[in-house]
Amino acid sequence: MQPKSNIVNLPVYQPGKPIEEVKRELGLNEVIKLASNENPFGCSEQAKAAIQSEIANASLYPDSFSTELTAAVADYLQVDRNQIIFGAGSDEVILMLARAYLSPGDETIMADETFPQYKHNAVIEGAVVIEVPLKDGNHDLPAFLAKINDRTKIVWLCNPNNPTGTIIRQDELIAFVDAVPEHVIVVLDEAYCEYVTDAAYPDSLALLRGRKNVLVLRTFSKIYGLASLRIGYGIGHPEVIRFINQVREPFNTTRFAQAAAAAALADQAFVQSCRERNAEGIRYLCAEFDRLGLTYFEAHGNFVMVDVKMPSQQMFDGLLRRGIISRARWTHYPTYIRITVGSREQNEKFVQALEQTLQEAAVLG
Ligand SMILES: *Cc1c(COP(=O)(O)O)cnc(C)c1O
Repeated sequence: MQPKSNIVNLPVYQPGKPIEEVKRELGLNEVIKLASNENPFGCSEQAKAAIQSEIANASLYPDSFSTELTAAVADYLQVDRNQIIFGAGSDEVILMLARAYLSPGDETIMADETFPQYKHNAVIEGAVVIEVPLKDGNHDLPAFLAKINDRTKIVWLCNPNNPTGTIIRQDELIAFVDAVPEHVIVVLDEAYCEYVTDAAYPDSLALLRGRKNVLVLRTFSKIYGLASLRIGYGIGHPEVIRFINQVREPFNTTRFAQAAAAAALADQAFVQSCRERNAEGIRYLCAEFDRLGLTYFEAHGNFVMVDVKMPSQQMFDGLLRRGIISRARWTHYPTYIRITVGSREQNEKFVQALEQTLQEAAVLG
């Protein structure tokens, strides 16, 4: 028995280490996970109440078309209902897109250090993956353009980019999309858009108008704090959305996720407060990195990619022994870790652990 040849060497996804596992392995009482860009402030109380009320309906299949949630999101974003598709996380929208649009031999283009699911799903479909090196942590859009040809099907732009946190600006994005041929779908993965405060961040929904080949991805996993419920969505041209819908599993999102997402969307006060506390956390972390003489990429999401000037695995282990789970071992950034912005108290504990680990490794004098 042999599986499809293109998946034989496919790595199993390595998630951030779970808190309970680290507690057990290291005998620690308190462990702080700053590894998966989860919301340290949880989710809206209204979302929790919505989950509670759905328990009575647990035996019933969910609405396959997420009708109420679709209406709520469409109204909120001022787009038509047939422009939206929901997935079990935006991860599943990425999977469905690849399934609907990528055939063996098609080409697909992405940055060389970005969200791994683009490559993962493209490889499963047998597509040829073309990776464009980041330039100082940023998408190099002219280099992307140079790689586009008749075989190109999808270009993936992660904005802000995970893991570097950098953004593609409005003017460069418009110039790029205008130059891309119409047979190529430009995917804008905006998982962290609600955190961005920079005025140069693109208005992707305006970019969608009058264009068939732009698809925006968003999620309730990050600022909305609903990662465990698995719900995200794509916004695009009705025709593209219809094709993606054709490959969607009938009951891909749960009642709990649909109800919680609608309630979370309605509670923009919670979102605003998370955005502000996150911006404060970024300012604090960057000031501490400056004090320690460490450089980092401009951070626009809820995480910072910082150069710890030592092998990242060694820093990861040092932080772990002190009860902090971070993310390390980046292919192109061997001395960087990615750290999620936590609560003020978590950020302070992280900085303390960071400084101790740097001292132990004699990176600091
Ligand atoms: C977290 C993340 C997602 C996917 O999140 P879901 O939980 O599947 O909605 C998508 N893209 C990027 C860049 C992310 O960081």
